[in-house]
Amino acid sequence: MGIELRPLGVACNLACHYCYQNPQRDAGNHRMTYDLDKMKAEALRIGGPFTLFGGEPLLMRFEDLENLFAWGLETSGSSSIQTNGVLIEDRHIDLFRRYKVSVGISIDGPSELNDARWARDSERTRQSTALVESAIERLCREYEPPGLIVTLHKGNATADKLPVMANWMRRLHSLGIRSLRLHLLEVDHASVRETLALTARENVQALLAFAELQNSLPGMYFDLFDEMEALLEGRDQKVGCTWRACDPYTTEAVQGIEGNGQSSNCGRTNKDGVGFIKARVAGYERYLALYRTPQAENGCNGCRFFLMCKGQCPGTSIDGDWRNRTEHCEEWKQLFGTIERRMIQAGKIPLTIQPMRFELEQRLVEAWERGENRSISLTLSEWYKERTGASNGEGAPHAAIGALMQERISWVSESARQKWEERLLKLPGMMEEMTVHVASLLGQQCAVRLIPESSFPRLRELAIMHGLSAGLLPAEVLPQSICIRAPGTVSGVFLAGREESVAQAKAAWESGNLQGFRALLALPACCLLHASQVVTAPIGASEVAVEIPASIAVHTLLAPLGISLLPIEPCTFDCLSALDMAAQWMELAAKRGYSSELAWLRDCFSWPVSWSELHGVTEVKTPLFRMCFQTAPNSRPRMIRRRGIAEEVDGGARGLTFPYLSPAGQPRLVEIGVAQ
Ligand code: SF4
Ligand code: SF4
Repeated sequence: MGIELRPLGVACNLACHYCYQNPQRDAGNHRMTYDLDKMKAEALRIGGPFTLFGGEPLLMRFEDLENLFAWGLETSGSSSIQTNGVLIEDRHIDLFRRYKVSVGISIDGPSELNDARWARDSERTRQSTALVESAIERLCREYEPPGLIVTLHKGNATADKLPVMANWMRRLHSLGIRSLRLHLLEVDHASVRETLALTARENVQALLAFAELQNSLPGMYFDLFDEMEALLEGRDQKVGCTWRACDPYTTEAVQGIEGNGQSSNCGRTNKDGVGFIKARVAGYERYLALYRTPQAENGCNGCRFFLMCKGQCPGTSIDGDWRNRTEHCEEWKQLFGTIERRMIQAGKIPLTIQPMRFELEQRLVEAWERGENRSISLTLSEWYKERTGASNGEGAPHAAIGALMQERISWVSESARQKWEERLLKLPGMMEEMTVHVASLLGQQCAVRLIPESSFPRLRELAIMHGLSAGLLPAEVLPQSICIRAPGTVSGVFLAGREESVAQAKAAWESGNLQGFRALLALPACCLLHASQVVTAPIGASEVAVEIPASIAVHTLLAPLGISLLPIEPCTFDCLSALDMAAQWMELAAKRGYSSELAWLRDCFSWPVSWSELHGVTEVKTPLFRMCFQTAPNSRPRMIRRRGIAEEVDGGARGLTFPYLSPAGQPRLVEIGVAQ
C-alpha cells in the first residue's frame, strides 16, 4: 500500500500526449490549491511513508516541499517523489539528501525518443528532455541514482529505435541506475492509439529485447520480467499492483490523498475524468467476472496464466471498461509463455503446468466471493500445509459475506458523500413505512413491499397504530419484487391492510388462488402481470442500449440503493397506472410528514443515471457516485441511460461521459448514441 500525496492534483508543467491523467484534465477537474495540515492528517490516518505525486509535484512552493519532506523524515524516516524531473535544481537535490527522499523520474528515452513527453513545442520539449537527462546524471553523481519509469510507444520502442534505447540504458547503467520499470502504453484516446500505440507484436519484441539487455547489465532490474517469473513460481508477495487483482473502486496499492485531504484512487481508473473517492470496502467483481467470461467476450476464462495475470491492470481494460480484461492480453500471454518455456528448460516447473493450478485458482475465486483478495503464495502455503497435515490455522479471517450495497459506492467527492450518504441510508426505512400509510387509505386491497425480517416488527407496530393488520409472506408471492435493502437480508413480502383484507390475501395465497391473491394487492394489474414473467434486470435492459424518458419517477435504476417508489418493476417506463400510483404515493408522503425524505427522493429521481451490465457485473452511475454489484452472469453487454430532469446536480462531477456534466458544465444530452 502506497500513500500518494497529490497537493496540486493533475497540474503539470508538461503536456505528455499519452498521460493517463488527461481524462481528468479534459473534464476540467483541475485543482491547484492544497492544505498541508489536512493532507498530513489523512496520511497519518492511513499510516506509512508517502510518495509526493502529481501532475508534477515540484510545482509546489519550495517552502511547502521542504515542510512535507521534513515531516516525512520525522514521521516515517523517509519519503519519495515521482517527478518528470524537468524542474530539479541544486536546491531540490539538497532537499532530497537532507530529508532522505527517494526520487523516481518518468522519462521515455534520450533526446527525441522522449518527445511524447511534450512541452508545448518541439524546441521546448527537447530542452525539457535535456534538463531531465542532466538531472538524472546529477542525482547519480551528487545524491543517489533515481528509479526510472519508461513507457513504451512508437516514439521509443519500434525496431529502429530499440538500439538507441539499448545504448541509453547502458549509459544509465554506467551512471549507477539499477531500477527501471517498463510500462506498456495506456491508451485513453483514439489519437493516442493512432500516433503512439505499438502493435502487440511490437510491444512483445521490445519487451523481449529489454529482457535480453537486462542480462548484460549486472544489477540492473527491469522489474517486469523478474515479477513475471516470480508469479509463475507462486512468489507474488512483492509483485506490482497490476498482478494483484486491483479493485478499481478502492485501488489498494494506491492510497491517494488530494490537496484538500480527500481520499482518492489510482488515477488510471478515472476513465470518466472524475476523481472518485474510495468505496468503503474492496470488492472483486472484476476478477469473478473475468474468471467466468469467455476470452472471446473479453474475459479470461480458461487462460492458464489467469492465476498470475488476473486480467491485469483495470486501467488498461478493453474499451476503458474495468469489467473487461486488459487490452495488452496478447503481450502478457506471449511474455508469460516465453518465461514459462525458459523456466522449463532450466529445470523449473512453473505453476501453469502443475495440476494444483486449478485448485489454487478455485481458492482465489472463493476468496474473492467472500470479499478477500488472497496472494498466490499464501494460498500455496495453505495448500501445502493441508497436504502435509499441518495446521491451517493461520489463514486470514474471512471477511463478512455480502458487503452492503452502500459499501461499494465510490463518491465523486467527500462533500457529496457527506451530504448524501446518510440520506440514502434513511430513504429505505421511509419507503417501508409508506407501505403502511398507503394501506391506511385502501379499501379491500393490501399494500405490499419486499422487506428484510428485521423491519417486520417495526412495520407491524406502525400498522397496529393505524388500526391495520400486517402479515409476512414468502418472497415468491411477488416475483421480481424490489427489495430496498441490501441483498442477503430479505425475508418476505410485507402486507398491510384491513384485517379481513390481509386475512383474505393470506388465504388466497395459501390455497394456491394466485389470481385471487393478485386481485387483493394494490398494484397496477399490468405491472403485476409483467412481474410474474421472468425478468432479470430493469425493464429495457434487454436492449444493447436504451434511453428512458426524463420526467418520470417510476424507474428502478436506483433500486440497488434502496430507492424505488413502486414495490415491483413497472411494466413499461411510461405505464400510466404506475405513474399515477407514484404520484399518489408522493402526495401521501407529503401529507404524512416525510417532507425532507420526499425532497431527497425528488432529487434522486431528477438525476441522470446510467445502468450497465457486463459479464455479470452491474455498474450504476449518477453525477454524485458510481456503484457496482454482481448480478447473474450474463456476457451480453446491456445499458440503460436515463437523462433525468436536473439541469445541474448540486455537487455533481464534471466528466467525459454520461451522466456527468460536460467540462463546460452543460448536461450531456445527445452524445449517448441512441436517438432522442
Ligand atoms: S489501476 Fe492499475 S496501476 Fe493503478 S493501482 Fe490498480 S493495478 Fe495499479
Ligand atoms: S493473459 Fe490475457 S486471458 Fe490470460 S489472464 Fe491475462 S488478460 Fe486474461
